Amino acid sequence: MSDCLFCKIISGEIPSNKVYEDEICYAFYDISPMAPTHFLVIPKVHFASAAEVTEETAPVIGHIYMVIAKLAKEMGFADGFRVVTNCGEIAGQTVHHIHFHVLSGKQLGSFN
Ligand code: AMP
Ligand code: ZN
Repeated sequence: MSDCLFCKIISGEIPSNKVYEDEICYAFYDISPMAPTHFLVIPKVHFASAAEVTEETAPVIGHIYMVIAKLAKEMGFADGFRVVTNCGEIAGQTVHHIHFHVLSGKQLGSFN
């Protein structure tokens, strides 16, 4: 999508601090980290949120979770981390290209 911040990050039009990339997804550090380790994993295909997962895009979500597990082991935080996807403005979603926050490196509090 031409007017999407995260599509522009994938294309390199907007710079990012890359963690990982393959043909299906892209991971980069959050610009405003909420934990010592805080990066985002996004599919290269654009869709808005968890409310828009389809039969076609469901395998992309599984792939992203596989990548997160691999990165957790490689980066040394597999013993404890949180994966968050905010869906819709009521949940605090500000960028409407689905993304998975991966947070670790501190005691993470409960949330509501
Ligand atoms: P959400 O509020 O769940 O939509 O998350 C969007 C996240 O994107 C926030 O945690 C922002 O800090 C992060 N973010 C916004 N712009 C950038 C950027 N240019 N590079 C990296 N992270 C960004
Ligand atoms: Zn996008």
